[in-house]
Amino acid sequence: MRCEMCTRRLGGREIAHGIRYGVSDPENDLFLPSKDSAYTVICQTCGESILRQIYSRLNKSTSTKYHL
Ligand SMILES: [Zn+2]
Repeated sequence: MRCEMCTRRLGGREIAHGIRYGVSDPENDLFLPSKDSAYTVICQTCGESILRQIYSRLNKSTSTKYHL
């Protein structure tokens, strides 16, 4: 299996990120993944890079939990 972002081959039991699409459930504050959504797998390095981009846009005072 390769990272679908940088195409690097993933090693055994290597930490990776899986992205799925689905719908939000605002009433229960949940994300409900669609049953026919396959995972888009990316390596930990790519995953952390994306998370950093996402959380760096948030207000610093609310993003300390996710500080990378
Ligand atoms: Zn990658």
